[in-house]
Formats: sequence, structure tokens, C-alpha cells
Amino acid sequence: MAAELGTLPGIGPAREKALNEAGVMTADDLLGVLPRAYQDWSKTTPVDSLAPGREALLRLRVVTQPSLSYPRRGLSLVRAWGEDQTGRCALQWFNQPYVRRAIRRGEEYLFYGRVGAWRGPVLVNPSCRPAAGELPGLVPVYPAFGCVSPRLLGDLVRRALESCPEPPETLPPGWPGRLGLMGIAQAIKNVHFPEDGDALKKARERMTFERLLVFQLAVEMLRLKRAGRRGRALKWDRDRVLAKCESLPYSLTGAQRRVLDEVLDDMQRPAAMARLVQGDVGSGKTVVALLCAYAAACAGRQAAFMAPTELLARQHYRTAQAFFEGTGLKVAFLSGGMAEGEKEAAAERIAGGEADVIVGTHALIQEGVSFRALGLAITDEQHRFGVMQRAALEEKGETCDVLVMSATPIPRTLALILYADMDVSVIDEMPPGRKRTKTRLVPPGRRDDMYAFIGKQAENGGQAYVICPLVEESEEIEAQSVARVYEELKKGPLKGVEVGLLHGRLRPAEKEAAMEAFGCGRAKVLVSTTVVEVGVDVPGATVMAVENAERFGLAQLHQMRGRVGRGEKPSYCFLLPGTEAPEALERLNVLVECDDGFEVARRDLALRGPGEFLGTRQHGTLPWPNESLCDMRMLRGARDAAQAILALDPDDPLYRRMTGLCRSRYEAFLERDISHT
Ligand code: ADP
Ligand code: MG
Repeated sequence: MAAELGTLPGIGPAREKALNEAGVMTADDLLGVLPRAYQDWSKTTPVDSLAPGREALLRLRVVTQPSLSYPRRGLSLVRAWGEDQTGRCALQWFNQPYVRRAIRRGEEYLFYGRVGAWRGPVLVNPSCRPAAGELPGLVPVYPAFGCVSPRLLGDLVRRALESCPEPPETLPPGWPGRLGLMGIAQAIKNVHFPEDGDALKKARERMTFERLLVFQLAVEMLRLKRAGRRGRALKWDRDRVLAKCESLPYSLTGAQRRVLDEVLDDMQRPAAMARLVQGDVGSGKTVVALLCAYAAACAGRQAAFMAPTELLARQHYRTAQAFFEGTGLKVAFLSGGMAEGEKEAAAERIAGGEADVIVGTHALIQEGVSFRALGLAITDEQHRFGVMQRAALEEKGETCDVLVMSATPIPRTLALILYADMDVSVIDEMPPGRKRTKTRLVPPGRRDDMYAFIGKQAENGGQAYVICPLVEESEEIEAQSVARVYEELKKGPLKGVEVGLLHGRLRPAEKEAAMEAFGCGRAKVLVSTTVVEVGVDVPGATVMAVENAERFGLAQLHQMRGRVGRGEKPSYCFLLPGTEAPEALERLNVLVECDDGFEVARRDLALRGPGEFLGTRQHGTLPWPNESLCDMRMLRGARDAAQAILALDPDDPLYRRMTGLCRSRYEAFLERDISHT
């Protein structure tokens, strides 16, 4: 069995927790940690051909005694000069006073760092090794996991590599060759100690494949489980559902009707339903879901509707309350943000069968919540939830139908793999009267004009969202902080306009209040993080402005854009790039040119590959390998291999090892997701 992290030298509880949070649970998991980058220590550059701004490896003899000074309080500086045959180069280390004793005048060293200028070329904070022996080649640079520094992480990984037995192959015999992949043991060795550039490339490819493989195993296991599961034919009342459709304030689009038919048909069959409903932002998925819930509830079964955020869950709750008014059916709400007493009361109504339709967050799938007769489990905006959460909700019903509403339209090729366990329905038509949202890239020089425009919209009864990527100031990422933008706007361009503030750090009641003020039109502008990204519906909103738009995925931006243009008035989407990089601008331009979510997704996928496409979240709540390396061919290979593994005899060691790995990996993620809400 794998060694516990806590038993490794240098690992106390705080570091263990930081590692766990990064998904590293055991010493074996350390082998799966991928270096963030590599430094090329395979060839040296002479001083006279250094290029400023580039990283370089130099072989230098230290020709001065290293000096230590304190230019400012709290800042130390070690300085020395090094020389090769072609010239002199300054060496500086900030806040690393120990370096003074580590290098000696007259000795030769290798120095690796970024080249700057200070009385000629200078290396700032270079890494350093004695120059004896061969050049080290490619040197891995590890990420920092919270309080675990890159250096410590590197040491831990190296130690794990030395002490763990050679990892056994995770693919059935012959498969690595068939898929053109490096063997797993060789790959693990090479990501950490690359033989050369080619070996490194193959090794990283194999490590990416590994994550896809485990993900695909999860999807396939779910599919097999479902296939073996008995369902129950739900006898819904056609007349009542039709009458409900008639009573809506609008008539359903043809596509909504067709998808509703597909779902209801499926629910009527004796087998358990597992269906994904895809539709562009604003295509009206919610009402279809509610009609299905209505059909289930009329037939005496409970329906649960799970949303990924508290905000969205509450909004759905309001919509559901209005929808079910006068039907005699009871709607309940359950979320982690509720007071304990309220939660218990809600849980009782759910368990007792008093509640017919239950709307909520992850809280719905927590232990201790049981349903009297769950017949239909709906999850909205699914890709925020992991595969296992999808499964956890359906576990709550003995024979329960599953309906998943997609957050983002994803191309069919990808859907067939990621949702291999489901049938797919597509709402491919928008409600009538929708106007195209004018989308523009706003260069930095026009930012003030844009805010002036927003001010004018607000005066004329319009409303605007302003989205910023981060809540807290961070030195590393110079994103506009929401709070700062909020203050700046209130003092400057939007003086006198009612501006609201919304971000993840607010308490549920504060979020609710901010959303309520914006929803009813009292607040004209809402400065927010991406909590409004999915699903939020405020019909009066006419402008969506996104700061540092290049930090978001296209599909995500398209989602945000979908928050406006829901009413009669013309609507606008302004993207403010925080960069001039041509690739970034080209990518954003896709949104200017293109309006259809499926098309945006196709182009985003083509530009970035499926790994990046799906892994937009930095600390992804989804156990998806956030790897730009993976491509469709690899994804298909992973699916095929997962199927081959599951086709093995259940007593086969490979079968046992891989299914066990898959369970533990995804269950760990599942617990983490819940504890964070
Ligand atoms: P999404 O598919 O993005 O979840 P919603 O379900 O939030 O979209 O629907 C967007 C808006 O369109 C809602 O305000 C909803 O009331 C409205 N809507 C849904 N269906 C229709 C329809 N057939 N005709 C007119 N408006 C509709
Ligand atoms: Mg929705």
C-alpha cells in the first residue's frame, strides 16, 4: 500500500493539507505531479551572445568576492561578478543572503537565469551548480502547492521516485504500442528526469493520457452501472402537461417541444433514463426541465433540481415557485448556506414526501438527505459538477431518471466521449424576438468611453454587468480586483449611479441582497466575479463588460454574454483585453464574429484543444485534466483503453487496480467539492 504523506520527512500537517488540496493523497501520487516547466541546462551561452529578456545557462568563473548588502529594510542583495572567455556578467541574488557563502571566488559554476542589464549583462536570482561533470540537461521546475515550495516539492518527488517500486503498467498488454504511447514507468522517469526533448514530449503525452484514462474509466463505469440498473416506467399525464404548457406566458419553441417529447418519452420507458439536454445560452432549458419535473411530480414521484451555485439555485427556486403556483405541488429549497434549523426542516419535508419538487445545491447529494420517492434527478449546468456528483444525485433514488442540462454547448464529437453514458437531446432554436448582442473588443484607450456609455445606458433604464476575474489582489496575476473596480467606478465614471458588488467571499444573504437589488432594477450596474457566469437571468440587463477578457475561455465568455439581450432593448457585450498578444485577440475576435454557442465552442475547441477548452477553472472543481496537450485522438484512445480495461475479468489485477484508482481519485474530488460550499 502507498505510504502516507505524513510519514515523509519535512511533511507536517499544514503541508500535508496543501498537498491533499492539490490532489496528492499518497506518496505514489507524488509521481503523478507534473513539473510546471523545464529549464534547458543542456547547453551554455557565452557572455558575448546573451539576449536580454531570455533565459540562459552560463558557465562562469566567479572573479570577485561575493558581497552582501542591505539596500533597503527587509531587502538583502548578494552581488558577484563572473567571467568566461568572451566577457563579464554581473550576478545578483535578492533576499538569498546564504548564497554569499555558497559560491567561492575563483571557482567555476553553471548559472541559469533570465538575462537583464546592469552595467552590462546581469543574471538576477540565477540557479547555480558547480560546473564539474556533464551538463545536467533538462531540469524540471515544479509548481508551488500552497505552503509547499517548488523546491520542496521537487525533493519530495525525487525521493518518491527513488523509494517507490517501479510503477506497473496501467494499460493492458500491447496497448501502449497500439496507441503510440510511451510505457508508464519510462514516462514517469522522463517527466522528472528527461533524457532529452523528444523523450520529454512523449513522457508528458503519456502522463496527460493517464489522467484522461482515469476520467474515461469513471464515465464508463457509470455507463455500465446504469445499463445494469432497473428503471421504472413513469406514467405521466399527457393532458396535464399539455395544459401546463398552454398556461405559460409564451409558447414553447419547436425545439423545446421536441426535446420535451424526447425526455418524457424516455421517462415513460421502463429503463432508467440518462439524458443530456444541450442548448445554447438562453434557448430556454429551464422551462423544459421544470415541465419534466411537473410530469414526474404529477405522477407521484419527487423531482430534484440541483444547480452548481447558491445564486443559481435560489434563482431556480424562485422560478420554480412561480411555475408551480396553483398546481397544488410543493416546492422546497435546500442549500449549504441555510441555517441548520431550516436545513433540517427542509430535509424532513423531503424525506417525508411532503415536498414534491426540491431545488438546491450540492447540499442535495450530501449524506443525511434522503428522498421519499425520487423519480427524476435534474442537474443544471452540469460541467461544473464532476462525473461522480452526477452519479451521487441519482443514487438518492432507487430507480431514478437522470436529466442533465449542459452549461455550455459542446461540440458533438466531444459530447459523445464526455457523456458516453448518456443520450443527448439538443435545443437548437432560440425563442423568437431575440436580438443579436453587439460584441466589441475595447482597447485600453477606449475604456473610459465604454464606462461613460454604461453610465448613459443606466440613465436610460438599462442595466450592466461588469465582470472581473479575481476577488483578491494578487501580485502574480495583475487582474483587476472586483473591489477596486467597484470603488473606481463609483468615484469616477459611474458617480451617482447605483452600483452593486458581488463576489464569492460574500455571505449568502449578502449575495442574495446584491442579486435581488440588481434583479429588481434598483442597482443599475453589478460589478461581479464570474458567479454570474452561469444561468443568471435578469431580463433588464443590456450591457456585459468583461475586464481582462483574455483570461476566460470563449465558451465561458459566451455564457456571460448570454446574460444580456434577454429583453426588448438592444444589447452590448464589451471585451476589454488586458494584453496585446495577437493570439489572444484573435481568440476573442471569434466572439465578435460569431453568435452561435455551438460554433463558438467548435472554434474554441479547435484553437485550444479539449483539455484547455474544458479546464477553464484554475482550481478546477471538475476532476478534468487541465492539459493543453490532449487532443481528440488521445481522448478517443483513452475511451477505448478504458473500455478494454473494464472488459477484463474483474479478478484481473489490472482491472482491480484501475477501478480502485478511479474510485479513490473521484471520490476524493467529490468530498472536496462538497466541503467547499
Ligand atoms: P438557458 O437555456 O440559458 O438556461 P433559460 O431557461 O434561463 O435559458 O431561459 C432564458 C429566458 O428565456 C428566460 O427568461 C425564459 O423565461 C425565456 N424563455 C424560455 N422559453 C421561451 C419561449 N419559448 N419563448 C419566450 N421566452 C422563453
Ligand atoms: Mg440555464
